[in-house]
Amino acid sequence: MCFDMKMKLIIRFIMFVLLGAAVTSCAPKKSEDCGFVQNVYGQRISWKTSGPIQLHVSSSVPAELKPAIHRAAASWEQTLGRKVFEVIEENTSSPSQPGRDKKNGIYFLGQWESDRKSEQGRTSVYWAGDEIQEADIRINSADFAYYDQNPQQLVRTASTKSSAGYNFEALVLHELGHFLGLKHRESGGTVMAKELGAYTDRVKLAAVDESSVQCEYR
Ligand SMILES: [Zn+2]
Repeated sequence: MCFDMKMKLIIRFIMFVLLGAAVTSCAPKKSEDCGFVQNVYGQRISWKTSGPIQLHVSSSVPAELKPAIHRAAASWEQTLGRKVFEVIEENTSSPSQPGRDKKNGIYFLGQWESDRKSEQGRTSVYWAGDEIQEADIRINSADFAYYDQNPQQLVRTASTKSSAGYNFEALVLHELGHFLGLKHRESGGTVMAKELGAYTDRVKLAAVDESSVQCEYR
């Protein structure tokens, strides 16, 4: 599982750089990382809205796996005590594709880069300043088969190669952590550990995951 962070340079940001030398008091205040990705000023990168963030489920995601997305979203919401995601299932005959389109989505992709075959998923987060503007979750359905709750029932698409089974809810829980701005971490039984093993049902947030998101969002 991997995390791509893409920063958009905006005029405001450039202005900070240009004025930085003369007006140092303009520099934003550094914050604790709390497990979050930080910008060059040491500020946590996050969504700055208290309302739900839309997450479009592409029709490329198999129907059997969609409930797992709702449960993974609910796990983060339970920790924060509020609605965080508005999960919207798309129902189009030609599935939407990831890209910089001002739409947050989760997509099943039957083609995956040959040099990144060990990744089950990847979340791209686009931000400006310290504010996330868009995030997309790509799921590798070329190299991995997934299951929801029952490991005996593997879901494959036409393009899925032979593979062991991976818990889809566990994968989405991890990618939603990135979606919210969290980075990888390895200690404390966290769901943000980089690797997810086959048939590993890591579907519960660890205490460290809860305190991380609460630090920023509550
Ligand atoms: Zn990851």
